[in-house]
Amino acid sequence: MNRKPIFAANWKMNLGPSATEDFLKSFLSKTQGQAFPAEIVIAPPFVSLAKLADILHSPGASKEAQAIQIAAQNCSQFDSGAYTGEVSVLMLREFFVHYVIIGHSERRAIYGETDAIINAKIHKAREANLKPIFCIGETLAQREAGQLETVLRTQITEGLKGVSDKDMAEIVIAYEPVWAIGTGVTATSQQAQDAHAFVRSVVAGLYGADSAAKLRIQYGGSVKPGNAAELMACPDIDGALIGGAALEPQSFLEIIRNGSNPVS
Ligand code: PEP
Repeated sequence: MNRKPIFAANWKMNLGPSATEDFLKSFLSKTQGQAFPAEIVIAPPFVSLAKLADILHSPGASKEAQAIQIAAQNCSQFDSGAYTGEVSVLMLREFFVHYVIIGHSERRAIYGETDAIINAKIHKAREANLKPIFCIGETLAQREAGQLETVLRTQITEGLKGVSDKDMAEIVIAYEPVWAIGTGVTATSQQAQDAHAFVRSVVAGLYGADSAAKLRIQYGGSVKPGNAAELMACPDIDGALIGGAALEPQSFLEIIRNGSNPVS
């Protein structure tokens, strides 16, 4: 199955509007005239979405700029109203947002997002035709207690509850072992491949072999230019969700470059 790899930068709470402009100037100057056999996505903080949209969709924007997809790092599960600090999916649509990260482990751990909230957000995103990047992953304690498969199966089953086959085709799953996020510790390519193959098998059980074969599963957790090729060479790894190493244009570009031409 030929799945187009997807490399998404999750800037977290970094790079405000002026830093976003600097990043894009540099990134676009480096990518000029280069086409990658991959989808490139940037998820800035909410306050930088307008800057990203202005630059990537300005009338004179280059082909390379227009090809970059914009993602939000979160969305509300509600439509509108008294939800201080929240941003709705329809508001995101006004900024050319096409993807939304849902269920990142930081949202789960710091903001108490449960599988039920994540499920509601996935449904809300699909109502607005946004494509969820649905994050799952185990903690180190869960892995060491032999709970990896149970945790992943529960997160997938609960997070996707009620999601139709048609909507599933628009979802990307990001497998991010919590112990590898922002720690500098990457899963070995074998650990990552095993988890990805398991995720695909769970999705096959829920949606059938064809949907599972088409599903793109990103790996996330300390991906860097130096480990991207080896990780992306694994048969069930279809790109990466990148935090720290995507804050710098050259490093993000090298990950895309190295990961799109993986060593086999
Ligand atoms: C992330 O935030 O999703 C992530 C994988 O971060 P890092 O690449 O910094 O580990």
